Amino acid sequence: MSLIPLLAAFLYGGIGSGLIVSAVEIVFSYYFHGPEVEWVALITVFLIPFILSFIYLSNWKHKSPKIMFPALLALICAFATFCVSLFDSFTNEIPFTLSSILIGLGYCVIHMLTMSMITFLIEHIKENLALRQEFQKSEKLNVLSELAASVAHEIRNPMTVARGFMQILNQSQVSEEKKRMYTAMVIEEIDRAQNIISDYLSLAKPQAEKLEKLDASTLSQKLANLINPYASLLNVQIAFEMESYLWILANGEKLMQCLVNLTKNGIEAMPDGGTLQIRGYKEKDLVRIEIRDNGIGMTHEQLERLGTPFYSTKQKGTGLGMMVSYRIIKTFGGTIDVTSQLNKGTCFVVTLPGAS
Ligand code: ADP
Ligand code: MG
Repeated sequence: MSLIPLLAAFLYGGIGSGLIVSAVEIVFSYYFHGPEVEWVALITVFLIPFILSFIYLSNWKHKSPKIMFPALLALICAFATFCVSLFDSFTNEIPFTLSSILIGLGYCVIHMLTMSMITFLIEHIKENLALRQEFQKSEKLNVLSELAASVAHEIRNPMTVARGFMQILNQSQVSEEKKRMYTAMVIEEIDRAQNIISDYLSLAKPQAEKLEKLDASTLSQKLANLINPYASLLNVQIAFEMESYLWILANGEKLMQCLVNLTKNGIEAMPDGGTLQIRGYKEKDLVRIEIRDNGIGMTHEQLERLGTPFYSTKQKGTGLGMMVSYRIIKTFGGTIDVTSQLNKGTCFVVTLPGAS
């Protein structure tokens, strides 16, 4: 019988999957080996309680090195199976030979090695998945912290303006009409500050995974609120040109995280200032968002490396922004295409399937 799938199911899938695999194995051996099924069923029935108690008592998932426990479990189970088969041949009066014992021991060792290999692979894959999520989080934190300074700066402006108007209003000789005008301006400034803060916070909050139908053109205002402070700090203008009603199936917050990454890169590519163009339009069933800068551009080699983790040419860069962006857009069934020319500029085109 095959112990390895059985053990893997119990170790990683829990009791339910373990029992299902056991049942499948018993049915299978009945089909192919006929009378031998009694032995398989007997071994399985004896092994299951042992496997379960071993898993629960060893609490192996919280111990390291993890590989040791499944390997030991496989060794013991294989040894038990071997003993049963010895017993079987004993009752059938088949004499033991040295080679049959050696084969049995080999059987145990091979089980142990295979199980350690499988555990190693599974743990490796799990670690990789966790690492990917960690990347996304750390990238987000980094972008947030970089934007924070400019956002704070941008909020100070409306404050100063509002304060100035308040000071004027405090003087008695201001006419009613002017009072009304100033108050309206103060409210406008404070609303602007509030929008910046709420958009910043919505970028910062933990993101839900689910996709929803949304109009990409409505994101431009949010994006502008978020990125304008940073752009003006680096002397960059942002020109939006969005068709209305760009319906897509996506997750608004994640898409925003990606757009912030791309616009931020565009802004950082223009150290001497310039204009960043952001265009959104429909093309057949597709929605495209184009982010074009006329900054430093990239060489062919740099383009090739774009999106590999930790690839950055910036002193404070993380080299995670592009990788995270590619991954986010991929989960929406879209692509990011990049064209770039050294010293001329770069164009990112995010293409997403449209939703009707
Ligand atoms: P980071 O911005 O932290 O360096 P990214 O993954 O966002 O990491 O970008 C990786 C690298 O790709 C950047 O360091 C830069 O060299 C290059 N790059 C990205 N966007 C642009 C752009 N618009 N113009 C020129 N180079 C870019
Ligand atoms: Mg970046």
